[in-house]
Amino acid sequence: MHDDTMKAEEAPLHKLDLLIGDSNEAADRRRRYLEEKHGVELRSIGSTVIDFNGVVGRNIENPIGAAQIPLGVAGPLRIRGQHAVGDYYIPLATTEGALVASVNRGCKVVSESGGAYSVVFRNAMSRAPIFRLPSIEKAVDFVRWVQSHMDEIRREAESTTRHGKLLNVEPYIVGNNVWLRFSYFTGDAMGMNMATIATDRACSYITSQFPEAKLVALSGNMCVDKKPNAVNFILGRGKSVLSEAIIKGDVLNRYGVDAWGVHDVNMRKNMLGSTAAHAYGHNAHFANIITAIFIATGQDVAQVVESSMGITWTEPLENGDLYISITLPSLEVGTVGGGTWLPTQREALQLLGVYGSGNPPGSNAVKFAEIIGAAVLAGELNLLIALAKGELARAHERLGRGKRDRQ
Ligand code: NAP
Repeated sequence: MHDDTMKAEEAPLHKLDLLIGDSNEAADRRRRYLEEKHGVELRSIGSTVIDFNGVVGRNIENPIGAAQIPLGVAGPLRIRGQHAVGDYYIPLATTEGALVASVNRGCKVVSESGGAYSVVFRNAMSRAPIFRLPSIEKAVDFVRWVQSHMDEIRREAESTTRHGKLLNVEPYIVGNNVWLRFSYFTGDAMGMNMATIATDRACSYITSQFPEAKLVALSGNMCVDKKPNAVNFILGRGKSVLSEAIIKGDVLNRYGVDAWGVHDVNMRKNMLGSTAAHAYGHNAHFANIITAIFIATGQDVAQVVESSMGITWTEPLENGDLYISITLPSLEVGTVGGGTWLPTQREALQLLGVYGSGNPPGSNAVKFAEIIGAAVLAGELNLLIALAKGELARAHERLGRGKRDRQ
């Protein structure tokens, strides 16, 4: 056996970074060790532009390389938002054939009709610790105490961050249990670490002043992170985004449909179907577009769970045009922090003109959220058109089964 891999066998694999002092070398040795042990070649996994010396301790532990996902663009998409104004190419990382083509045609239909308007109407990242109190009487006392000490709680929380601002603390009581749902403005960061660190400091202060409140868990699942839920749907989390467009009747006709046909699919599928299924969302495929953008731009992909909840609303207009809007109550995105600074992810954000800190801080993340809202609208519109035309299966056979050349 090779001398290097012997070392990997002697020391636990995750200790190699410290032992060697170079995380790129450590990743190579771990991979070679696995190749030898399992008799496989991991050359593709080892081929990456990522410098692990910057990434270990921030984004990954025990790396052996990188997973690569094809990246396509849809667009240009015309957006007339509050922050996003212009024609944008949307980066989409996916292995689902037909997805990029679908969003691309949606972008074309929206842009030919004059573009989409987008706005972020709520902007707050939440963390909700749970406390145990000795009785319901004490639980109510505790909530009153918190409400009358907000200045001190805010001071403690905000002492941990330059950008985070505590906006409010919403209490929930169940028996002798109290959740405090802290909501923060987090600048251009998605804000989950920021909100967690700030809330931790606030909780230390709260329990030192109100010792009968015992902190059970810093995250009490009322936040709500990475679980399907109604709280974020109603109160919002991250960016709450609205996007709308009026699609011209003659443009729809050119694509073989009309406003009533698209509206009928939206009502029976997205409204009635989702109601019958008790789904947390009345939409066709928000998760497709959100996941592909999240992977391309270094967002926390597990947050697709709640980021892709939402509603598609349509109204046929008297002149034959179609009004369409999408609502994303809980879109959790950032342009700094997390995986946004990784090489390919950073470039994708640069393509949209939103990488890094905005001026003022927070404006890049809002602009990014507006772009995502418009892209979701385009993807949604196209799928409704495809279903109204009955072409969904044909498109997937052509673009998702490698049969393009045979058409
Ligand atoms: P972060 O990278 O932990 O923090 C953002 C950093 O960027 C802070 O140090 C902040 O400084 C700085 N910053 C510089 N310019 C900024 C600007 N314009 N706006 C805002 N901040 C700016 O990122 P995060 O968004 O808070 O957390 C995201 C990470 O949390 C992801 O990796 C995600 O996977 C992970 N995550 C954590 C939890 C958890 O429970 N902790 C849960 C889910 C996901 P200041 O702090 O001084 O303002």
